[in-house]
Amino acid sequence: MKKTLLLAVTATIILTSCSHTEKKTEQTTNVSDPITEHIDSSISPKEDFFKFANNNWFKHNPIPSTESSNGIWKTIQDTLNEDIRKICESSAADTKATKGSNKQKIGDFYFSGMDTVSIEKAGITPLADYLAKVDAIKNINDLLSVTAAFQTMEMEPMYGFGVNRDDKNSEQYVVGLGQVGLGLPERDYYFNTDALTASIRKEYVKHIKAMFVLFGVDEKTADKNATTIMTLETTLAKSCRKMEDLRDPYKNYNKMSVAQVNKLTPSIKWEQTLSLLGLKNVDSIVVGQPEYYTALETNLKKIPLDDWKTYLKWNVIDAYAKLLNKDIVAEDFHFNSTIMNGISKQKPRWKTMVKATDGMLGDLVGQIYVAEYCPKGTKEKLLEIGNNIRDVYAQHIKSIDWMSDVTKQKALSKLQKITMKVGYPDKWKDMLSLEISRNNYVANVMNILKWQYNFMLGKYGKPVDRTEWDMQPQTYNAYYNPANNEIVVPACNIMVPGFEGRMPDDAVLYGIIGGSTFGHEITHGFDDQGSKYDEKGNLADWWTKEDKQQFEAKTKRIVRQFNNYIVLDSLHLKGANSQGENIADLGGVVMGLEAFRKTKQGQSNDLIGGYTPTQRYYLAYAYAWMVNTTDASMAKQVMSNEHAPAPFRVNGPLSDVEEFYKAFDIKAGDKMYREDSVRVKIW
Ligand SMILES: [Zn+2]
Repeated sequence: MKKTLLLAVTATIILTSCSHTEKKTEQTTNVSDPITEHIDSSISPKEDFFKFANNNWFKHNPIPSTESSNGIWKTIQDTLNEDIRKICESSAADTKATKGSNKQKIGDFYFSGMDTVSIEKAGITPLADYLAKVDAIKNINDLLSVTAAFQTMEMEPMYGFGVNRDDKNSEQYVVGLGQVGLGLPERDYYFNTDALTASIRKEYVKHIKAMFVLFGVDEKTADKNATTIMTLETTLAKSCRKMEDLRDPYKNYNKMSVAQVNKLTPSIKWEQTLSLLGLKNVDSIVVGQPEYYTALETNLKKIPLDDWKTYLKWNVIDAYAKLLNKDIVAEDFHFNSTIMNGISKQKPRWKTMVKATDGMLGDLVGQIYVAEYCPKGTKEKLLEIGNNIRDVYAQHIKSIDWMSDVTKQKALSKLQKITMKVGYPDKWKDMLSLEISRNNYVANVMNILKWQYNFMLGKYGKPVDRTEWDMQPQTYNAYYNPANNEIVVPACNIMVPGFEGRMPDDAVLYGIIGGSTFGHEITHGFDDQGSKYDEKGNLADWWTKEDKQQFEAKTKRIVRQFNNYIVLDSLHLKGANSQGENIADLGGVVMGLEAFRKTKQGQSNDLIGGYTPTQRYYLAYAYAWMVNTTDASMAKQVMSNEHAPAPFRVNGPLSDVEEFYKAFDIKAGDKMYREDSVRVKIW
């Protein structure tokens, strides 16, 4: 999700071809209206609704060289960044803040990252101890203990370890092991043969070499290291499941005793390793992908110790490069931002540090943000919209024709039990024990990562805390968490660019906050994954066999629909990867309209800028996804992210919705038209 600048352009076109029957009573208004101002009247809504709704903004707002995209999300983030910058700078200026207070931590962290003189002077020395630990490895036992130590520093070499909710018993936490260990974003990067992916592999090898040279390794050795790492990661990638094969939570749930896990990878000696990771008396482990761990045993025996050591060094360098001196930061930027995301220029330092402070100390920043920047009444308004969406959802479920009453009752019960966390948490994380100093940026980051690791570890064996939030009030995003059967919508989701200081009309509120936020997140509880969890958050089948078959047939249709979309050149969308998000988008846009139609504006015939309330609702929905992305970033998104690029998140679901056809008079032969027989109707 994401928001915009006001444009000095006024679009006053009236769609004469639309078959709306509402009385045309034009509202006169002197204030600007982003919804109609962004319309490009040279494009027909019947051909490309996303472009029709947004292109005028894109024409006047090219993607800046420091960004991989531009649009509503960046606009909102710019506003949030200004607020967070004030929080950071005022905290940093307050050198008398009480030691241990939130202000002291935020201020000193920000200051330490802005202190580029000290960072430059330190060079690579902040990582020296870690690299020396790798150098000292003499045998496989040493290798495994250093690997375990790195796990506690937010690196995941060789295996992925975590304390998670038990999918089949949401009242408890369980140790989890999964596939990981790759430097590129996804396993397909190691094998796909298309020109783009092949060139990324080449660039990755060049990048590894350049980094080792910057770390003082001679050219020849750096060259060899790069080849070693590429070969080793490719070997690990071979035993990783493809992204679409990770979508079935049952296949990722393999609960085993520690003795059974030892049988998969005897060399790791899991009791010993778990104790190095900080856990004792573990009785069982949920192994996500057992075949990865079987292959890891072979790899541990086959791959020379020196290669593993090079790989561990690369994990340290890659994880912390962003925090070091400017030459290293520049090389990291070249590969991770320019090659992978099409960003040509680095952001100013303050922006980097605002992002870092918010990312690392978001819970502390959030407390000040809520107190000083969050508009009054935010929580109430969000909750009102959320509850209205839930109400229409219930009516809608009762009326769908493909589901039996038995399953409907279960679905309704799950819907009613969804916890809606909106605005900000009632209780904040206690970060009192965290130490932050003013003069060592890398050490600060490491302290925070250690704190986060210990926070995760501390959950093991304790009752589940269902009040916890995984996002901050200043995070412009939202999520559904199946283990809690909850949706979380942070406070800043109330922001709609262009409506600063005034309440947007209901078409806008329901298109953006109703449809693309609440409706979308609630539908995640009923998508291909969410539907596998019950009202208590347990992986459990609550469907009748027939209803499930019907549901799966419908999800297959949406997979087919999105498989057919071509993003760039020959790059097709991955319908299986993105199906959960596409189901959520479709559910969101349908429920948003139904809730909007219960409002006064939704029931009126009042035109704004020549558009009916229903048309305006769809324009607002398209505004929620008004994002223009670089080709590189779009390609990366298709390869490694479950969200389809923005244009498809608008045109895809809308071309399945009958009400949209009516609103814009879409007919056979129009590009937005899909035969009734292939249109998807799920929720
Ligand atoms: Zn989603």
